[in-house]
Amino acid sequence: MYKLIKKCGNARRGEFKTPHGTIQTPVFMNVGTLGVIKGAVSSMDLKEIGCQVELSNTYHLHLRPGDQVIKKMGGLHKFMNWDRPILTDSGGFQVFSLAGMRKIEEEGVYFNSHIDGRRIFMGPEESMQIQSNIASTIAMAFDECIPIPSTKEYVEKSVARTVRWLERCKKEMDRLNSLPDTINKQQMLFGINQGATFDDIRIANAKEIVKMDLDGYAIGGLAVGETHEEMYNTIDTVVEYLPDNKPIYLMGVGTPSNILEAVDRGVDFFDCVLPARNGRHGHVFTKNGKINLMNAKYELDSDPIDEGCNCPACQHYSRAYIRHLFKAKEMLAMRLCVLHNLYFYNNMMKEIRDAIDGDYFSKYKESKLAQWSGKA
Ligand SMILES: [Zn+2]
Repeated sequence: MYKLIKKCGNARRGEFKTPHGTIQTPVFMNVGTLGVIKGAVSSMDLKEIGCQVELSNTYHLHLRPGDQVIKKMGGLHKFMNWDRPILTDSGGFQVFSLAGMRKIEEEGVYFNSHIDGRRIFMGPEESMQIQSNIASTIAMAFDECIPIPSTKEYVEKSVARTVRWLERCKKEMDRLNSLPDTINKQQMLFGINQGATFDDIRIANAKEIVKMDLDGYAIGGLAVGETHEEMYNTIDTVVEYLPDNKPIYLMGVGTPSNILEAVDRGVDFFDCVLPARNGRHGHVFTKNGKINLMNAKYELDSDPIDEGCNCPACQHYSRAYIRHLFKAKEMLAMRLCVLHNLYFYNNMMKEIRDAIDGDYFSKYKESKLAQWSGKA
């Protein structure tokens, strides 16, 4: 259940109660595709870097190790030793972006596994069953993530089908939550707004899915090739039609400045692979913007990645040492940079929450944007 505590402009400070604890929002969800953050980061590390919600991918866990294995091991919480909230995506995005030879029908999608090529079918019921076996806190509805650009005719047809899929998801989740051997009988369901960059389709779809009284609403199908202005415009358009008493999740976004802009427009939940992926390549976020540790100028730099940062990497190691680890292809290099970048994101969300609480969010946003672009 979502409780709006305070607003600062359109930015919202809230609390979302779940069976696995209360989430303070706005929040960044840390992406652990296979039940682990890539870069040798454990669930114990996640607690140390202030992670509130871990996000895992249904498609990937279905293929490896298999959701039946996870169910037999007592659910993903037990399997990966993480007792805080977990959100699982529906598998839709990966089916449409990773799998080969896909065929979309009213029932669902036929596709080939990207691991061994075997033919698999996934529809709304299958997605809900897999997510129920994983036993995540929040399940996402099965949807088609529409490529941008697409014709208006295609977007209309796809969105109408995704709404029919959402009705099937809700029905299937209600059924699964009532079964005696279901691990998390209080699993929550978020619906997903789609419509590419067509405002009228986005609005009609938002009105439609809000009627279903779901636990939360996501804005999907963004950060797939549209401009930042188009993305911000779509958020502005959609947020107006979503209820005040439910959390709003912007899927797959984004850079620190994207997050500040979206919080300013009323978004509560975020996820993105960017901080971990950047970290694995030695690209780290600092208060003065992103730097590349591979640059020669850091060879003799005894400063931490980011002066004043309280993450495990900055507390103990210098830029020069971490750069050396990268050059020597030591795994610790990736691990330290991923820990730093995730800490940077989680800490930024904490600062955002403090800024809304303290009524200075606009000032905070402006000063951060200026600092990151090197102007302050
Ligand atoms: Zn740090």
